[in-house]
Amino acid sequence: MRKKIVAGNWKMNLNLSEGLKLAESIKNYFHEHPAKNAEAVLCTPFIHLAKVSENIRGSNLAVGAQNCASEESGAFTGEVSCGMIKSTGAEYVIIGHSERRTYYNEDNLLLNKKTVLALKSGLTVIFCCGEVLHEREQNIFFEVVKKQIEVGLFSLSKEDFKHIVIAYEPVWAIGTGLTASPEQAQEMHSYIRNLIMGKYGKETADNTTILYGGSCKPSNAAEIFAKPDVDGGLIGGASLKKEDFCAIVDAI
Ligand code: PEP
Repeated sequence: MRKKIVAGNWKMNLNLSEGLKLAESIKNYFHEHPAKNAEAVLCTPFIHLAKVSENIRGSNLAVGAQNCASEESGAFTGEVSCGMIKSTGAEYVIIGHSERRTYYNEDNLLLNKKTVLALKSGLTVIFCCGEVLHEREQNIFFEVVKKQIEVGLFSLSKEDFKHIVIAYEPVWAIGTGLTASPEQAQEMHSYIRNLIMGKYGKETADNTTILYGGSCKPSNAAEIFAKPDVDGGLIGGASLKKEDFCAIVDAI
């Protein structure tokens, strides 16, 4: 049985004390209402990782970073390596978020390099893929996602692929209030699972967690998560409010 995950992507929001307060309130909620069916992951800014990891220890929450360096160590001023992320107690790292692809020109080859380093450090990778609006309108969204996954991930061994979570995030739905319909999400998730099956076989495909992301909120989460190939969500805006994030985890 593949794992269900709801990961919150805080992006560049919340100072340290605000982040610790939010993590604490989420931890308290899940202490009282254990999330039975899903793992909840808090993907915080780098500076929060160590403290949040320490504070949530013993709970059923996990912590992740939102990015990592594409080099292992050395003279790369301002970068944060996968080994450093792992040393904070974080277990996950988001790689290939559309905001990294768009604003920082991160391409599939670079994201592959980051993924290999993250796995080497023992992190689980939440690998984002998804088409922009004009690619959906031109009906080339399957090809776009196929290329992102093939170049980004398919150099990995079957063993390494066990530590990959995929997040399908149609870029036109991120932070826009527009959500893919449950049918659109299911269609792409099933396509992605088939791609994985073609490369790594049925068992790996069946065991791979595929998340949906894009304006997911308490009012639409249950309907999206009910689709057979949707195994949870990557949540942006709604992960900054304890009530919304917890309600989305509960929707699984
Ligand atoms: C995201 O940034 O990964 C995301 C899904 O954002 P939002 O939920 O705000 O659309």
